[in-house]
Amino acid sequence: MENGYGKARKWIDDADGMIISASNGLSISEGLDIFADDDAFEELFGDMKRRYGLTCILHGMQARWPTEESKWAFWSRLINHYCLDYRPTGIMNGLKTLISNKDYFIITSNGECHFELSGFSEDKVYEIEGSWLRMRCASACNGTLYPVMEIAKYVAVAERNGSIPSELVPRCPHCGGYMEFSMGLGAYPDKQKAFSDFISNHHNKRIVVLELGIGWRNQLIKAPLMRLVDMEKDYSYISINKGELFIPASIENRSIGFSSDISDAINYLIR
Ligand SMILES: [Zn+2]
Repeated sequence: MENGYGKARKWIDDADGMIISASNGLSISEGLDIFADDDAFEELFGDMKRRYGLTCILHGMQARWPTEESKWAFWSRLINHYCLDYRPTGIMNGLKTLISNKDYFIITSNGECHFELSGFSEDKVYEIEGSWLRMRCASACNGTLYPVMEIAKYVAVAERNGSIPSELVPRCPHCGGYMEFSMGLGAYPDKQKAFSDFISNHHNKRIVVLELGIGWRNQLIKAPLMRLVDMEKDYSYISINKGELFIPASIENRSIGFSSDISDAINYLIR
């Protein structure tokens, strides 16, 4: 195992750039499981479980809330806890060490913006399924994405009993209508383009794709990146995925997999 880490580190050190790919396995390693009704969910949302029948964070993100006031109570509490109070973990700091001065791009299905909040450039992080920190007009009267963070800060303070004062419900600056989160595929065409540009600019270069906790059947991020590595003969693939390693035979000789906790694996890699 030790050997594998040494080899992976050499690939990274020798690379011209990195693509980091991540999904909910990374979030879980950072203490955020949007699918779970666990102790953390009970502590943060226990009252909303009983008041609204909330079953997990994902449920709250996709729920039809009875009012805008309750919707914003949920979202502001979520953002306050997992974004405003977030401090970069050892995983994020380790990734910065590995990237060093290389060019990089990050593609993730996680919406909580932990990469951005850890100091990675916003322009180089593509949240493919949307972000918790951008909102848009629910009537789509204009295409602008508005920041949510500052609003969440004062809204969360005003929240009482799973609701917020009506006058604090965010409104579209153009039409005065309600706002929604910018979630879903295709929410960020410019990020899609930035990622395509990164790949075009690194054709025939040495790129390491470092995958963090993406389920083996994932077709959104994992399968396309594996096909990319297959096509680009100087690309290599490192997968950190406890209990769910999957590497196709076509890229086996340019891949290393670690069935390990992400945090442990990053610690071994930065040694
Ligand atoms: Zn509007």
